[in-house]
Amino acid sequence: MTDICIIGGGPAGITAALSAASRGKKVTIIERNEEPLKKLLLTGSGKCNYSNSDLKSDYYNFGQNHPFSKVIEEYDSEWLENFFMEKGMLTYKKECLKYPRNERSDTLKNLLLDLISKEGVKTINNKKVVSVQKNDESDNLKEYNDNRAGFVVKFEDGEEIGCEKLIIATGGKAYPSLGSDGAGYRLARELGHSVSFTYPVLTRLLTDDKDIRDLSGIRFKARVSAEAEGKIVCVEDGDLQFAENALSGICIFNLSRFVSKPVEENKECFVIVDFLPEMSEGEITEYLKKTTSDDANFLVNTFGEKTAAFIEKRVGKKMNEAGAGSDKKEEITAFVIKNARIRITGHDSFNFAQVTKGGVNIDEVDENLSSKICPGLFFAGEVLDVDGKCGGYNLHWAFASGYKAGLIAAKD
Ligand SMILES: Cc1cc2nc3c(=O)[nH]c(=O)nc-3n(C[C@H](O)[C@H](O)[C@H](O)COP(=O)(O)OP(=O)(O)OC[C@H]3O[C@@H](n4cnc5c(N)ncnc54)[C@H](O)[C@@H]3O)c2cc1C
Repeated sequence: MTDICIIGGGPAGITAALSAASRGKKVTIIERNEEPLKKLLLTGSGKCNYSNSDLKSDYYNFGQNHPFSKVIEEYDSEWLENFFMEKGMLTYKKECLKYPRNERSDTLKNLLLDLISKEGVKTINNKKVVSVQKNDESDNLKEYNDNRAGFVVKFEDGEEIGCEKLIIATGGKAYPSLGSDGAGYRLARELGHSVSFTYPVLTRLLTDDKDIRDLSGIRFKARVSAEAEGKIVCVEDGDLQFAENALSGICIFNLSRFVSKPVEENKECFVIVDFLPEMSEGEITEYLKKTTSDDANFLVNTFGEKTAAFIEKRVGKKMNEAGAGSDKKEEITAFVIKNARIRITGHDSFNFAQVTKGGVNIDEVDENLSSKICPGLFFAGEVLDVDGKCGGYNLHWAFASGYKAGLIAAKD
């Protein structure tokens, strides 16, 4: 029997193993893949954006009033950087985004695997956990002949192991090809927890707007706002990327955290693009009235040919709708530049999403990542209903919550 069993060898599970094993506990990780940390390799396009120096609980769905805000205050971005540096991996920062110094996710993966091996953590690979049971009546665990055993963990092939404490760190449902297929939710339910509905986030947003087809391949610095049921729910600045039937880029990924749910519920959602955030509508109108260049030249010079054609098309439509005379052209052009509305009809599926919104109910878990329902049970990482902005926040949560869960689980 092992003291602590951790289901899932992602960043959360590995860090939990490290903190628990460094306090002298016998720790076993069960990983369904042939080795742990498969997803970590793909993060940040292989460069691994592991944290962000601008770390605030407001950038997570739980916000500043939830007890989880204490987890990221205690284990903040500097703590994580020092942790990696101390263990032998230099890091660096690009704006606020933090990476391994050599921008290689495999460096961090190898470091973490080396550390757990040195701490004597046992890793059982190629085993999918399909069921967990609490040893309340101690019937199930008679065969372990050890009344400390608190849980029985059952594998797909019928084998099982017993453990005193259990940490579920199975990730959510994003990128199931890398191992996280939502199996952890069933395990949490078996032990009495509730799980909220899940949505793919940090994804592209799909549209049926035909006007953007010609913009496919264009990338543009813009301000984008998400509107759901007539209300602005999120505003982001960044590189907006157009595809034939989708909007993409980090700014859109961040909007998806607020749009995936309403769009799935068939609520009306739009992305409103401000192509010129540094000028107000009034300033653009004034400028257009004064400039000796005609409007078409201004648009091409400022936005490039394809985006200019898109704006012109929208201006034409708006003028027709309003029955406006040519004296209104500058106002309408300025309005369209600041308010290009693109209807959102969907999002990419979990197969292509970076993160899951929803999961194990976070009000059933305390600030120590400990279950309020089932003593001896802990959760860490994305299996919980926690999602953060794009930019290192989700990995940071996995590392911080994993470390804390392991530490507390290791207490007698
Ligand atoms: C393509 C991509 C790029 C990303 N880039 C970034 C980035 O740059 N920065 C950032 O902050 N975040 C990024 N993310 C998000 C980040 O990777 C995740 O939030 C993070 O990995 C979650 O860690 P975790 O340990 O909770 O879960 P996971 O990393 O999903 O690990 C869970 C592990 O549990 C295993 N498992 C699941 N079920 C079982 C079971 N029943 N039995 C045994 N094992 C099981 C899985 O195989 C997996 O190894 C990215 C995600 C993707 C998909």
